[in-house]
Amino acid sequence: MTIKKRIVIWYTVWMALLVGIAAAVLFSASGALLRREIIGELEEAIYDAAGDIIVKGDEVRFDDDLDFFDDGIYISIWNGSRMVAGRFPEEAPSSPFADGMLQEASNDEGGWYIMDAALSGPFYVRGAARSYDMSLIATSMQRLLLILLPAIVVLAAAGGYFIVRRSFLPADRVIATAGDIAGSDDLSKRIGLGPGKDEIHQMAAAFDGMMDRIEGAFEREKQFTSDASHELRTPIAVIRAEAEYASSHTDDPSITGESLAVISAQAGRMSKLVSELLSMARAEKGTLRPDPELFDLSELGEMVVESLRDKADERHITLNMKAPEHLELMADHGMMTRILINLVSNAIAYGRDGGWVLLRLSSRNGAVLIEVEDNGIGIASEHMERIWERFYQVDAARTADASSGSGLGLSIVRMLAEAQGGSVEAESSEGQGSTFRVSIPLHADDDGSVLR
Ligand code: ADP
Repeated sequence: MTIKKRIVIWYTVWMALLVGIAAAVLFSASGALLRREIIGELEEAIYDAAGDIIVKGDEVRFDDDLDFFDDGIYISIWNGSRMVAGRFPEEAPSSPFADGMLQEASNDEGGWYIMDAALSGPFYVRGAARSYDMSLIATSMQRLLLILLPAIVVLAAAGGYFIVRRSFLPADRVIATAGDIAGSDDLSKRIGLGPGKDEIHQMAAAFDGMMDRIEGAFEREKQFTSDASHELRTPIAVIRAEAEYASSHTDDPSITGESLAVISAQAGRMSKLVSELLSMARAEKGTLRPDPELFDLSELGEMVVESLRDKADERHITLNMKAPEHLELMADHGMMTRILINLVSNAIAYGRDGGWVLLRLSSRNGAVLIEVEDNGIGIASEHMERIWERFYQVDAARTADASSGSGLGLSIVRMLAEAQGGSVEAESSEGQGSTFRVSIPLHADDDGSVLR
């Protein structure tokens, strides 16, 4: 059963019950009230009349304006059993006189209240009023209730259902939207109830916010998968082409040798890409936790520079490092190595033939600053915002070149720096060179958060 129906049934049943109880209480209370009211009026009428009547011997005198019938009450003046003035209903039963006592009498014509006020001697004022038959009233009221109660219940239920339905309309929209999304896999659908303070509007807004995040994550995931497969497809295609070419020229060792070199380079590129994808995936899963240790960053810088010197020499690039003798740092050694390698190899890859690359290490304000400067091709300002994005490459045409990366290098640098509480920035002017800066706090505690 829907909440709507439950609410309507619940309060309709209660309302019918309440109306029934209220009618019963009202009926019994009003019966007693009516009786008291009539008796009170009767009493007042006879004593008022008695006050206006003067008895002298056998004679009674009263004002002309004395009313013998008013508001359902008959007033009569009696001398013994003889009525001398006033009105007494013929159908009312006669009974002995009793001063100030209420007599309830009835005959076939119905019930009567009779009350007397003694004047003097055998003179009495008698008042009579019809008593209402409570059982008659009860049956007519029951009849009325029998018609009225179902009408009230039906009206209340219909009105209630209408109001509840209207308040639940937004909920129906939530249900329909959720159903649409589940049925069509279309994550772009939103409830879009707009502003509103009630619970359903808040729920709809929370739902829409959640869908925004899910859709965003889903889109990023889709983009990542398509970028990653695209990146892997290129070297695979090159390897296949080279292998086919070599297999049809097995008689020429120079061709097969060249092909094998290309295949090996492409395989190297794939292996680099796969390991980069792996570290990205680990970072996404939140398992990228720095494992800080105290080490000499100057020494690490020197090692990285030496390992990349051959690459620099190939292009006649002068590779230098400027650093204090022992720059001690508490950080994740593996992550710092990856940061240095990515930045320096980028500087060489995008450097100028015969140019220079400088790695500068320093410490300032409780952080170490790694600066990698080159006088290479530089980056046009419109690309500066995006170079830290995954798979972003300024010149995508270089992708096919085995020596170029996959556009993941800088995003990994930023990810590793941020995982250690650090930050990254870049400065560049096209055709003149670039400077990349990474700042890492000197001391990071075990959970990667930074003590300052
Ligand atoms: P890639 O694998 O293509 O090197 P990165 O994420 O390392 O990917 O870099 C993204 C892009 O930023 C590169 O494609 C390149 O165009 C540009 N870039 C990075 N470093 C430099 C640099 N030192 N000089 C000029 N351009 C650079």
